[in-house]
Amino acid sequence: MDAISYERAGDVAGAVRAAQQSGAVFIGGGTNLLDLMKGGVARPMRLIDITHISGLDTVTTLPDGGIRLGALVRNSDAANHALVREQYPLLSQAFLAGASSQLRNMATVGGNLLQRTRCGYFYDTAFTQCNKRMPGSGCAALDGHNRTHAILGASPQCIAVNPSDMSVALAALDAVVRVTGPAGERTIAFADFHRLPGDRPDVDTTLQPGELITAVDLLPPLFSANSHYLKVRDRASYAFALISVAAALQMDGTRVKTARIALGGVAHKPWRASVAEQMLNGQPLTQATLNNAASAALREARPQRENRFKVELAQRAIVRAVNQAAGHAGGVA
Ligand SMILES: Cc1cc2nc3c(=O)[nH]c(=O)nc-3n(C[C@H](O)[C@H](O)[C@H](O)COP(=O)(O)OP(=O)(O)OC[C@H]3O[C@@H](n4cnc5c(N)ncnc54)[C@H](O)[C@@H]3O)c2cc1C
Repeated sequence: MDAISYERAGDVAGAVRAAQQSGAVFIGGGTNLLDLMKGGVARPMRLIDITHISGLDTVTTLPDGGIRLGALVRNSDAANHALVREQYPLLSQAFLAGASSQLRNMATVGGNLLQRTRCGYFYDTAFTQCNKRMPGSGCAALDGHNRTHAILGASPQCIAVNPSDMSVALAALDAVVRVTGPAGERTIAFADFHRLPGDRPDVDTTLQPGELITAVDLLPPLFSANSHYLKVRDRASYAFALISVAAALQMDGTRVKTARIALGGVAHKPWRASVAEQMLNGQPLTQATLNNAASAALREARPQRENRFKVELAQRAIVRAVNQAAGHAGGVA
């Protein structure tokens, strides 16, 4: 049995200070970290409980009209907050598509951002090959069961996917992550927050050691009238995404003024379908335009042996999510 010390941080500065001790990690809702500890995947020596830091558990309006989600806001509170539901329904839907209500009642915004992959070879320590868990050991998923793995942006070192639903919506909304660390405060654009695996799949994000996520900022709401989060999974609830799509549109009549599309379940990070967005921007939303954009979004896809189906599934999911966002549940002409 590993000895673990527990410390409750009273404020942000205290949490950052405590995190500088060796083997220290923050604990939020604990819904991911404790599972990893029980499985022997994570072996921290010190738990810094951040859930009693005041001021990080609120949703507030920003001067520019955007909102700030404190890092300790529980996923269920964020999903059901009036400002989120009315101004960022895409994000509310993404929260509600994740996990179960019991888990959402515990899970925090900060913890959700940092939840680790659900690759079975990462979770099961009986497998001795996992570059994410043991750098340099190999990737058992490459020749193993890889039905749920990446089709975009993977590397020969790792084909795991990021499992967060919330993060897919935040990617589409161009959120900003606020952090405080030993060197002070800084902000990280959402596109730069999660990493592709490259040759360091053990590093999921660009957070520096000891940095505490304090909040996530959302830009003023531009997409509240036309957005949709679509999650395709093996079970109707309580399952991670095979493919998910966060689609957000600004419409000008039947023409797309601005499109934002992010995909989940396809890569080591939430994947912005920028080429597809450009093909839709300024165009009338026709079925042909949408089909072409969806095909282009997956042009760089490199599926694994067991997950070729994900390419067409992602294309079809993009078409459906954009149609739903535009208010054409049955498809466009
Ligand atoms: C059975 C099950 C099903 C699930 N299904 C889904 C699903 O369908 N979709 C989905 O998106 N998620 C799903 N989840 C995952 C769930 O959303 C995450 O476990 C949860 O969001 C993590 O939040 P937490 O506060 O509990 O994080 P914790 O477990 O407390 O922490 C997770 C990580 O974040 C770090 N951390 C936490 N807060 C901060 C902070 N403020 N600053 C810096 N580091 C921090 C911790 O050190 C740790 O490394 C599921 C989980 C379970 C157990």
